[in-house]
Amino acid sequence: MIIDTHTHIGLGEKFEDTFQIDQSLDLLLAQMDEAGIAKACIMPVTYHDYEFGIEEIRQAVAAHPDRLIGYARANLHDEPRALDQVRRALGDYGFRGMKVHPWQGDGWPTRPLMDLLTQFDACLLLHTRPEIDVINSFARLAEDYPNVPVILGHMGGFGPYWPGFVKLCAVEASRIPNLHLDTARVFDHGWIKMAVEICGAEKVLFGSDACAAHPAIPLKQIELCHFTDSERDLILCGNAKRLLRL
Ligand SMILES: [Zn+2]
Repeated sequence: MIIDTHTHIGLGEKFEDTFQIDQSLDLLLAQMDEAGIAKACIMPVTYHDYEFGIEEIRQAVAAHPDRLIGYARANLHDEPRALDQVRRALGDYGFRGMKVHPWQGDGWPTRPLMDLLTQFDACLLLHTRPEIDVINSFARLAEDYPNVPVILGHMGGFGPYWPGFVKLCAVEASRIPNLHLDTARVFDHGWIKMAVEICGAEKVLFGSDACAAHPAIPLKQIELCHFTDSERDLILCGNAKRLLRL
């Protein structure tokens, strides 16, 4: 079984976010079928207020509970409202985690948010950037909240930046038990292989950033790494099952 731990659907509203608008559920399901993906964690695209985005996810999961796992997003600049939305998503709708994208207006994780994620055994997926301060501060956050599985999306950023940032993420993941990495939009398959060599396959999760990026691409990258069967199983499924308590 393959579980994609990083996908987005939704209409979106911020027109400066040019690739995450009009991400349809039908397109995501078609991509999942084409790539042979059984289940996906789905999260909203970018909104100023996430009420509508969370509702899009709730409806999608309700329609396909066997294939979709809900993740929230929230605008932490309005913390009381954000906490209310995340509490409802985790407590009432059965979502299993949330994503925070500080550079698309979500703000930064706060202590009350981390306490809430701890309370619900929920995962935190962070968009990461290739900046040493960012990676270090996310690593500190994971250390401060050891019961929250923290996932560094994109292993430090996406695009042809320097692989030293992937290495830094992997080194931090190797020494912090609850810190993990995902494969979404990692530029080169060799970087994924390097990360696994540093922090172990149990710290790397398959993610794609579908439907803005086809999930068959990171699957092909993983194939090119020629991992052992047990490494491949952990990356594609086992780690997600463990962290999401499936
Ligand atoms: Zn994403």
